[in-house]
Amino acid sequence: MHPTDAAGCEDGVARLAARLAGARRVVAFTGAGVSTESGIPDFRSRDGVWARFDPREFTYQNFIGSVEGRRRYWALGRETYPLIRAAAPNAAHSALAALHRLGRLDCCITQNIDGLHQRAGLPAEAVIELHGNATRARCLECGAAYTRDALHVRLEAGVAVPDCERCGGVVKPHTILFGEAMPQAAVEEARRRAGAADLLLVLGSSLAVFPAAYVPRHARRAGAALAIVNLEPTPLDREADLVLRAQAGVVMAAVLEAVRARCAPDAVTPTGG
Ligand code: NAD
Repeated sequence: MHPTDAAGCEDGVARLAARLAGARRVVAFTGAGVSTESGIPDFRSRDGVWARFDPREFTYQNFIGSVEGRRRYWALGRETYPLIRAAAPNAAHSALAALHRLGRLDCCITQNIDGLHQRAGLPAEAVIELHGNATRARCLECGAAYTRDALHVRLEAGVAVPDCERCGGVVKPHTILFGEAMPQAAVEEARRRAGAADLLLVLGSSLAVFPAAYVPRHARRAGAALAIVNLEPTPLDREADLVLRAQAGVVMAAVLEAVRARCAPDAVTPTGG
């Protein structure tokens, strides 16, 4: 599939809107790129987080295995969490919420941990979080729950590794680290919903992080059409029915407008007569 770049975006928007308006069951699959327009950097772009941190360090094994691993993790978290907390949903998040209200979106399967889909108005039951959520944490020993806000206060006060205040155990955020299994219930639900879709819409994902990136592949194999809106090429572009190499927020704001026009009760369907 030849991608439509930003310059040819108008045609791409019209084609995506037509697919969204005509599909029986649409499922969105989002990655870090859907939140960059909200000011949260992604992992793989040139100015993304991994340009400054080495991803090989941030594994589940390193976090669990040593105080030093946790110290490095929390040093990264101290930088990234304020961005998540300060971020507001952008036009792409809002468009997905609006499409859901219009009955045009079944659900959104996300790799993001920022909670912006829910904050844009997508009901929690329509958001499947494959990699958890950054706003909560809990002690792995005694189960005590912590908000990330409370842990952040301790980090800012100079605590390098915020252990459990009740039992001294290891406190881990509700996010899935490299090398950690994804939450089983979310994986099963994602597989079921993606398998039942007739249009899978990818927004802002490199489609390079596995096993999450199996979701669009699974939908494709089950017969769904595939539309990809991403700034950079992805390994699935060649298999996709529509590829727009443009900003997700810009595209989705325009797509929503076009879908609304198509779905308006008084929209005239040309009959050719
Ligand atoms: P990624 O960083 O691997 O890829 C992001 C993709 O989005 C890139 O290909 C980039 O070209 C594209 N992109 C960036 N800005 C865009 C925009 N405005 N419009 C369209 N495309 C844009 O992200 P991934 O595929 O989600 O995988 C990385 C992992 O990072 C995931 O596991 C996710 O959990 C985690 N992560 C999450 C957040 C978040 O919650 N906001 C932020 C960083 C990383």
